[in-house]
Amino acid sequence: MKNYSVTKIDTHTHTYFSFDAAENGNSPEKMCEEAVNKGLDAIIFTDHIEVNHEVEHAFPPLNIAEYKKQCAEAKKLYKGKLDVYTGVEMGQITHYPETAEEIAKTNDFDYIIDSVHNTKGEQDPYYVDFTKIPYDKIIYTIDKYFDEYLQLTYVPYIDQFAHLTYPLRYIKKAGIDIDITKWDSVIEQIPKNIIKNGKVYELNSVYVRKNIILPEDHILQMYKDLGGKKIRLGSDAHYIEHVADGFAQAYELIDNIYKGEIK
Ligand SMILES: [Zn+2]
Ligand SMILES: [Zn+2]
Repeated sequence: MKNYSVTKIDTHTHTYFSFDAAENGNSPEKMCEEAVNKGLDAIIFTDHIEVNHEVEHAFPPLNIAEYKKQCAEAKKLYKGKLDVYTGVEMGQITHYPETAEEIAKTNDFDYIIDSVHNTKGEQDPYYVDFTKIPYDKIIYTIDKYFDEYLQLTYVPYIDQFAHLTYPLRYIKKAGIDIDITKWDSVIEQIPKNIIKNGKVYELNSVYVRKNIILPEDHILQMYKDLGGKKIRLGSDAHYIEHVADGFAQAYELIDNIYKGEIK
């Protein structure tokens, strides 16, 4: 992949092929049109493959053939105006590592980002009302999350490590204050492995859109102090208008820490 300025490529976007964006009219083509309007040089589509659901059949699977076909058509249409990459966001890889590896190896995606949406045996925090959860269970949720995330950093075919603060979005939204520094020793191992393996750390700009203060600056500072330089922005857009949304603020956060080192 070319070297793009950090604000000129959206590396985490969903089209209507994602089960949670199916009704949003966000075809690959429409997403490209928006990306061009926002002044981007490139877009990476990363529709969901929730590996556990591929096995447990909780959600409809990604229609990979049709997804790749429409992405290829959009790529052709925008040639010379926008670089288009067909990737995937693979959730819960560590629950079924063999299934995940098979999907990754047989589909030749341009880019693979990881995620932990739900830890094994637990619900996706998106569906949890944390105001009704006892405090020790919340601590347990975070413990389990970072443990599973750390395991992911040993999976070789992942290109980019997505939204490391995912459950905190929903915990903070419920008005619960969490001192993230308690998990520093486990969190620190995550950027260490990302750096060692030459992978990309994603700053997900959802926190800007949702107007919640996440420990993004704390983790980025840690990443920088450990020598991390590969950062890409992802809007996690599930709607057309959210392509590259929050990038100016997210870049400001990077620049406050990196002082012009990341362009
Ligand atoms: Zn995600
Ligand atoms: Zn996503």
